[in-house]
Amino acid sequence: MTLQPFLPDDPQPLTDAMPSSDAQLSELRSLYERVRGLERMKSTLLDIAAHDLRNPIGAIRNLAEMMLKTDALTPERYTAMMQDILSAANDAARIIDDLLILQRIDRGERDATFRSVELGALLRGAVQKQLARVEQRHQALRTQYAGEPAVVLGEPALLREAFVNVLDNAVKYTPDGGEIGVKLVITVDNAFIDVTDSGVGFAPDEAALIFEPFYRGRIGIAKGIPGTGLGLHIVKQVVEQHGGGVSAVSQPGGGSTFSIVLPLLSSLIRA
Ligand code: ADP
Repeated sequence: MTLQPFLPDDPQPLTDAMPSSDAQLSELRSLYERVRGLERMKSTLLDIAAHDLRNPIGAIRNLAEMMLKTDALTPERYTAMMQDILSAANDAARIIDDLLILQRIDRGERDATFRSVELGALLRGAVQKQLARVEQRHQALRTQYAGEPAVVLGEPALLREAFVNVLDNAVKYTPDGGEIGVKLVITVDNAFIDVTDSGVGFAPDEAALIFEPFYRGRIGIAKGIPGTGLGLHIVKQVVEQHGGGVSAVSQPGGGSTFSIVLPLLSSLIRA
């Protein structure tokens, strides 16, 4: 990953940047906020690259070294080691995908590609992606979709990623045999998506923290459930960039509900 330095190529002398009016002062302030945001994002991305990619890449290296050193691997051992390599490579690929999405969001690229998107179809597609895992874990999945199209203005790939992250967590943090519910309803102005599960939950004081980059809840860590702490941060960024919001409530040990609200395209046109 190559990250560009966020310094201007040709920095202005400080005196030239001195504000001479309120408008200039506010422009300078907003520029300063933007640079600070970019700096934060740069260090976030570097942190992810440094810490999170080390584990899967280290695992791949160790396994490959072991395979090269061992003369006669049984076919079963060979298959098991190759599966571990594949799983570590998938983890690394997932982290890189997350990084690229964060970078795209940060660049503000998505505005140019916003178009009308029907959330029902998008959500159905995201649910479909989880079906094999849900079945494997003997979880019960209930879905309820709005009777009418839920059309918003947005970037389908980013919205799909946001839904996939929330659904992926619901499956991951719910033990075998648990329940997951997905609901999409619309009102005059908004689409509401609720993903409910009967899983391990998180502590009430973590309700805001879990949307911070890298934050991993105590219960998930204690139970050894793997993760990077990036998924919900991406969800929040994507949803907010579509003019919406996301929140979560939970009872430790008694499940969680993640709620996303997005403004309908019709409400934007009326505004
Ligand atoms: P990750 O799952 O990789 O740790 P996320 O950013 O997706 O990262 O989630 C942040 C934290 O929020 C998780 O570590 C977990 O504590 C909590 N969390 C997210 N989804 C759920 C869920 N469905 N049930 C319980 N806890 C959850």
